Amino acid sequence: MNNHSQPPKPSVIADDVVVRMDYTLSVDGEVFETSTKSEPIEFIQGYGQIIPGLERELYGLMPGQSKEVFVASNDAYGDLDPDAMMDVPRSEFGADIPLEPGVEVQVKNEDGEVMDARISKVQGDTVELDFNHPLAGKDLVFDVKIVDLRDATPEELEHGHVHGDVGHDHELQDKDEIEE
Ligand code: ZN
Repeated sequence: MNNHSQPPKPSVIADDVVVRMDYTLSVDGEVFETSTKSEPIEFIQGYGQIIPGLERELYGLMPGQSKEVFVASNDAYGDLDPDAMMDVPRSEFGADIPLEPGVEVQVKNEDGEVMDARISKVQGDTVELDFNHPLAGKDLVFDVKIVDLRDATPEELEHGHVHGDVGHDHELQDKDEIEE
């Protein structure tokens, strides 16, 4: 035994393993987002931190391995909800918001919660907002590459999220969690 300071790393993805992974998400044949231009993502396997249809396909993968994972919309962000549309008078938008289809806006509901929406249609004095997730109704294709694995610490398992190694922003994260 030559290294007592580090516990052995898990060799395959299983529950309670912290996965460091690069991914590229493609939708309708086009790249929607990718981690390869920034940093790999980190999450604890088995905690529903990534969408279920993807998490399920990661069990047993090893560092260095790549996989293409197809996730049908009902396993991802669900179907498009036709009721998640709302007509709003043009006058309720600030002058700085371009009223064009595709523009993303934030709207406060009656409880004061901020919700993300997109302008789907502009007709006369009426602006139609779409509150569906941008990926609702879409099938997703993930190209993932496993970068590194380690066991989660007991504290991470208790909190259900990954802690960074140097002075992590844990207080901030927990504040976010309380607001949710
Ligand atoms: Zn924590």
